[in-house]
Amino acid sequence: MLNLIIFGAPGTGKGTQSLNLIEKYNLVHLSTGDILREELKTGTEIGLKAKKYIDEGLLVPDSIIIDLLFDRADKIIGPKGFIFDGFPRNTVQAEELDKVVVEKNTSISLVLHLDVTEEELTKRILLRSQNSGRADDTEEVVKKRVEVYIQQTMPLLDYYRKQGKLITIHGMGTIDEVFSRISAAIDNYITSNN
Ligand code: AMP
Repeated sequence: MLNLIIFGAPGTGKGTQSLNLIEKYNLVHLSTGDILREELKTGTEIGLKAKKYIDEGLLVPDSIIIDLLFDRADKIIGPKGFIFDGFPRNTVQAEELDKVVVEKNTSISLVLHLDVTEEELTKRILLRSQNSGRADDTEEVVKKRVEVYIQQTMPLLDYYRKQGKLITIHGMGTIDEVFSRISAAIDNYITSNN
């Protein structure tokens, strides 16, 4: 099973690249941000609880996210693998994911870190905000989300580096250019693990 984590600050293109990756490698996309937005749209209790955190650019509490994600994953039967997008975002979530993959007799194959300059991030998100309709794509909230990423999520780079799973991908350039770099890293992994 090929289980990938796509990792990077808000605006690095994780969602866009995930959509390309699920097609090429026949994976199931699990985006916690998308799942939360769906819960919000349908007005579920979880959606209502999560709203205030999302609107402020803060992390939704781990207990909510973890239950939500693994409940979804459990309902999916027989995929070739998963791509985790927007999860894990802190050490508690990463440790929980490690436990679950062991329980399921599988493992995380690679953590693909999309590396983009801060200047480019802001540019991309503000551009996205014109069409995304996302309430959390305003300049103020984006600033908070980047801050949260630096403080709580970036330490995971070390966590996965120590596990030998981290691959940093140069995230600047066109979508196709970045996708070629990601694909090359995955193909290399597949070749050396077969
Ligand atoms: P995203 O679409 O991944 O940028 O997520 C949008 C928002 O959803 C984030 O700013 C958080 O408020 C919330 N969120 C998404 N994934 C997580 C997660 N793994 N842990 C906590 N909050 C999350």
